[in-house]
Amino acid sequence: MTTPNTLAHNLGFPRIGADRELKKAQEAYWRGDITQSQLEATGRELRAAHWKLQADAGLDLIPAGDFAWYDQVLTLSATVGNIPARHRKGAATNATTRTTETACCAAHAHNPEAEAVTTPCTDIDLDTLFRVARGRAPGGNGTTASDMTKWFDTNYHYLVPEFHAGQQFALSWTQIIDETREAISLGHNVKPVVLGPLSYLWLGKEKGSAFDRFDLLQNLLPAYEQLLAALAETGVEWVQIDEPILVLDLPAKWQQAFEGVYHRLQTGKLKILLATYFGPLGENLSTALNLPVAGLHIDAVRAPEQLLPVVDPLSAHKVLSVGIVNGRNIWRNDLAESLKVLKDARAQLGGRLWVAPSCSLLHSPVDLDREQKLDAEIKSWLAFATQKVAEVVALAQLVSGHNNPALEKALADSNAAAESRRSSPRIHNPVVQARLQAVKPSDSARQSAFPLRIKKQQALLHLPLFPTTTIGSFPQTDHIRQTRCDFKQGVINEAEYQNRIRQEIADAIARQEKLDIDVLVHGEAERNDMVEYFGEHLDGYAFTQYGWVQSYGSRCVKPPIIFGDVSRPQAITLNWARYAQSLSKKPVKGMLTGPITMLFWSFVRDDQPRETTALQIALALRDEVVDLEQAGIKVIQIDEPAIREGLPLRKKEWQAYLNWAVNAFRVSAAGVQDETQIHTHMCYSEFNDIIGAIADLDADVITIETSRSDGELLQAFENFKYPNDIGPGVYDIHSPNVPDVNSIINLMRRAARELPIERLWVNPDCGLKTRRWPETEAALERMVTAAKALRLEY
Ligand code: GLN
Ligand code: ZN
Repeated sequence: MTTPNTLAHNLGFPRIGADRELKKAQEAYWRGDITQSQLEATGRELRAAHWKLQADAGLDLIPAGDFAWYDQVLTLSATVGNIPARHRKGAATNATTRTTETACCAAHAHNPEAEAVTTPCTDIDLDTLFRVARGRAPGGNGTTASDMTKWFDTNYHYLVPEFHAGQQFALSWTQIIDETREAISLGHNVKPVVLGPLSYLWLGKEKGSAFDRFDLLQNLLPAYEQLLAALAETGVEWVQIDEPILVLDLPAKWQQAFEGVYHRLQTGKLKILLATYFGPLGENLSTALNLPVAGLHIDAVRAPEQLLPVVDPLSAHKVLSVGIVNGRNIWRNDLAESLKVLKDARAQLGGRLWVAPSCSLLHSPVDLDREQKLDAEIKSWLAFATQKVAEVVALAQLVSGHNNPALEKALADSNAAAESRRSSPRIHNPVVQARLQAVKPSDSARQSAFPLRIKKQQALLHLPLFPTTTIGSFPQTDHIRQTRCDFKQGVINEAEYQNRIRQEIADAIARQEKLDIDVLVHGEAERNDMVEYFGEHLDGYAFTQYGWVQSYGSRCVKPPIIFGDVSRPQAITLNWARYAQSLSKKPVKGMLTGPITMLFWSFVRDDQPRETTALQIALALRDEVVDLEQAGIKVIQIDEPAIREGLPLRKKEWQAYLNWAVNAFRVSAAGVQDETQIHTHMCYSEFNDIIGAIADLDADVITIETSRSDGELLQAFENFKYPNDIGPGVYDIHSPNVPDVNSIINLMRRAARELPIERLWVNPDCGLKTRRWPETEAALERMVTAAKALRLEY
């Protein structure tokens, strides 16, 4: 008897399209430029193209239900009828009158507390989804959107489901079923993908009266039963149910609930592949192994060590899908290495071994073949989603013992790429490595402690109480964008470009002088993006033309690729900073992006620890910081908005991460004299559980986002008795509204109750590049007025 072939499958394919067709169609629909049926047609074409691409590549089982009009968690919310009352059809409301909403149908019409509607919403269309996601759609009234938050430790953001006490659920939106049928009708062998009930509940949040959303589990399951029954009707054999929360630290009751849930969902009509990804199962291992499902998918990229502990005890009828092609990164798979691992697994599992990417390819760019400008050697090291599908297929065929010229070539190409990555001088820079070896503990410490430093700084800077500053960027006008674009395309030469950017800097300085701000900025007109700009000026970074990845909805990002040892061939910001400072007697801040943000907003190397890469970037930035100091820049800001994003999924790994992250920041900052004032800036952060690490950064001044939370985020600094200077953001830059003077004063009074007034700064809560000048100047004028009033008051 021969062992069946190892099956090749995929957990999900990027939905945006190689040319971001989905983004373009979504935005055109929102603008009113295309109709709903035109948008639907684009979606249908993209799905058909993606299925065909995967089938042609040779995948045995292709995902359906991985498409979404905005977000897959939102699709599931609709599927189970969980649409907030304010987003339902006919809800007559706007953001300020949320309690007067009317409900979606007669059953809700008499509910006075519309937000607490607990019956499923069955009248859903595309605009309903867009209202949840964006607060508005071409159809229906505007209101507040649902919250969005990061999908585990990725850069993808999902829409947070809202739950109410006693809520009921029912199958209400058939997209996953319809798309499964659509794929079948196109002749594909598909496996629908559904987010599991426990992960779905876990990822949401309670609204209205206090309760525990875990208690909704029993109400939720009937909707899943309906969905699975409908999927079984389509004739598919397998369904993939994702329970990524199995890689988190779970409270006992959540962990224990898995068994009962999957007992209930297993009907005999449909085989369930339970998918986990983004880390090891850890203490959820036996829970996952014991579930009454037909197969389990594990992430063998993030957690290769869990393969043996899973293979050994796996029960004899279960399939194990090994996720061995990295779905989160852009590196070409080392097929020979993977094959060794898979061969061992196949020796034990036989035909019950499946091969897949580690997670959905949603987190990879679409197609490497489109890149025309990438250096050929670097390109040979990479694989995007399309190439990753081919790798999965090749691995399944190779481990099954197949051989043919195409497979031989795939192996040979992979070996050649792995070999060239091991030895290429583009990657390995002995100077950088020697410097790394020579880093000493004293490199991460300023000369003196903060109390002495701040005295010396003050003697030099003579700043008033409640000094005012901004976060770095000023409005990026069309003219600025055009200038950068013209320069990139060669329409204007270097001299003309310098000239125009200098004019922008001079304009920004003049406006700040007029506003009487104390510590100025040059405005960042030369930067399109805070990471890309520095990456473009560092060795070891590469950029793609089409390497887009969905961040949320129609928003895509194109992260740079850190492929080699990072170094700074020459000063990056020095000339702009020097010029800006020459225009004013007031201090003008040097403005840099910190090592952790440079790391997390890029695709990173997988051939060395992230800690090492972070330290390389830190050393490159350190040189820039020292150069700025030598050029007479007295205040230097090193932005680290991404520090919290890097937190590992499991708490026990937090400290180790924070240690190297904090160290990298300190190395970047600590090359200067006591007199030089180091600022940092952070946003989108909750600080409570990392406040110790934030204090350890030992920046002289930190500016943070506080205004959107009514100052709540400041609490962590107050409780901690944060010792260094702090600027709580006094108004929300995300809104064009001009803040009133009193709200600024009140926020600062609140801070002054808990923190010494000599430690406080007054600033907006983030950079101003998305705003326009009129509202920017109006807001800053009020901010300065408030600071001056505070100086009189205290
Ligand atoms: N200096 C940057 C700016 O002002 C900071 C951006 C950020 O925090 N994300 O735009
Ligand atoms: Zn910010």
